[in-house]
This record gives sequence, structure tokens and C-alpha cells, in this order.
Amino acid sequence: MNQEDRSSHIKKIKKDISNLKSIGVDGVFLNKKNKNTLSDLISNKDKKSHFQTLEEIKKAVEECELCTLHKERTKTVFSRGNNKAKLMFIGEGPGKDEDATGLPFVGRAGKLLDKIIEAMNLSSEEVYICNIVKCRPPSNRKPELEEMECCSRYLLGQISLVKPKIIVCLGATAAEGILGTKERIMDLRSKFFDKYNAKILVTYHPAALLRDGSRKKLVWEDMQLAMKELLE
Ligand code: URA
Repeated sequence: MNQEDRSSHIKKIKKDISNLKSIGVDGVFLNKKNKNTLSDLISNKDKKSHFQTLEEIKKAVEECELCTLHKERTKTVFSRGNNKAKLMFIGEGPGKDEDATGLPFVGRAGKLLDKIIEAMNLSSEEVYICNIVKCRPPSNRKPELEEMECCSRYLLGQISLVKPKIIVCLGATAAEGILGTKERIMDLRSKFFDKYNAKILVTYHPAALLRDGSRKKLVWEDMQLAMKELLE
């Protein structure tokens, strides 16, 4: 991409972000007073994100230089799994293994996530897995709000095109990005929130389970809720 194309691309992206803000979407967060669902936003031709396909979003992510995270990335990390899945898992952001391979959740935490999915009688080809931010934050630090906001248009596009019935937020950053709350996982888990035309469920991040195995039982309870809802 030459300098001119890059500037016009960045201008277009900034316009999309400001359009979303003008209708109450602050990053991935909807203002509480704004009751619009994501599909309302998407069906509004004048204000929608310009993405028509997941491939388009993936390409935009690969070329994205909206925040400083692009400077240190090896690969952007978009998604893995099924583009038509009813169940979507959202994590925080790529770690070292994900940055190297370009795929989400392929390290130790990812292996555990795959086991959880298997225990739900599903395969990782039947679910959609992605992250709040698409580039690795240095030293695996938590993404800054501004970085989450830059990536929010991509994530909103992914949600609106995949149309999952259930979104599982893995950990506090995913919950913050999707629900716009900094409440603790223990206060958010084990119930559904309605947003983005989906049922949102918050549970512990698999990396937290690697640190404290006693939480596995709680995650399994949450996954059973998700399985029951999937069948309804
Ligand atoms: N942790 C995340 O939140 N996402 C990944 O892709 C890997 C680890």
C-alpha cells in the first residue's frame, strides 16, 4: 500500500469510528441509554461499517496501522473456526504463539480452550474464536482502551457477519470490550446478557484456569449453560 492509499484508508477507518460514535457506539461499547442492537446499527445503510464480508475485515486488519500495536506484530490474528458458528468465543488478544502463527488461541491457553470445547461435544471447527484486539500487545500486557477501540470496528463486523447465538467472553478484558463493564468475572459469570442480537456469557479466561485450577468447575458450569441455550 502506498502512502496515499494508506492515508485514505486511515481516513476512511476514522470516519467509520466517528460514525459509530455518533450513534452511541463508543468502541465496542454501546451507551447504556442507547438501546440499539448491533443489527439495528448494521442495517442502517448510512452509518454501518463498510465491511460486507469477513475476508474484507481480515484484509483490513492485516493492513491496519490505527494504533501502535501494529509496529511490533509478526502477524495479525483474526479468527479460527467456523464463520457460521452459533457459538463465538472472544479472548483478550494474541500472545507469542498467536503472533507467530496468525491464529488465535494456539498456545497453552488455547489447548485448554480446545479441551473445553471438546468437553462440550463440539469441535473447534464448529465454533468461532477471535479476540478483542488483533495484534499482540508488548509483553502480553492488557490492551489499552484506545487499542480496543481501534479494533472494535473489526470485532463488531465479525459479530454482525457471523451472527452467533451465544458469545462467550473469556476473561475480564473480553467482558469489558463487549459489555463495557469493569465488574469482576465472579459477579458477571453464570448469567446471560442480551447484546448484539446474541446471548452474552462471561467466564474465566483459560489462562486463569492454568493459574488456578479450582476455577475449572465454574467454567464448566458456565459452559453447561451455553450448551443448554444452544439447544433451545
Ligand atoms: N489469550 C487470548 O486472549 N487470546 C489468544 O488468542 C491467546 C491467548
